[in-house]
Order: sequence, then structure tokens, then C-alpha cells
Amino acid sequence: MRRKQIRVCRECHRVVEGEACTICGTANLSEDWAGYLVVIDPEHSEIAQKLRITLPGRYALKVR
Ligand SMILES: [Zn+2]
Repeated sequence: MRRKQIRVCRECHRVVEGEACTICGTANLSEDWAGYLVVIDPEHSEIAQKLRITLPGRYALKVR
């Protein structure tokens, strides 16, 4: 997978298409991230709860 140019939110780790995070509304984005995570059912996902993800979607595990 090509990760370059895919940006993620530094606040909530969500993969962002566009200029700002749709959840946080922040433009605090990073291209330096690792680990691709697709959350389908956050309430029943341990990793989603660890990352405090409450909405389904695509996220990064680590964001620098
Ligand atoms: Zn965010």
C-alpha cells in the first residue's frame, strides 16, 4: 500500500481525505504514520477502544 500523501488526523488518528478531519474539524494532519486500521464496529473492537475510536472508519495505529 502506498502511504505517501495519505494524511491522518493527529488528534483522532482518522484517515483524512481533504484538508481537515471530519471528526475533529482540525487541520492538524500528518503524513508520517504507520499501521492501517479499518474499524467497522468500534464498540466491539478492543483496539478501537484503546485508541478511543467511537466512529467506524479508517485509522492509523501510530501517528508522529
Ligand atoms: Zn480527527
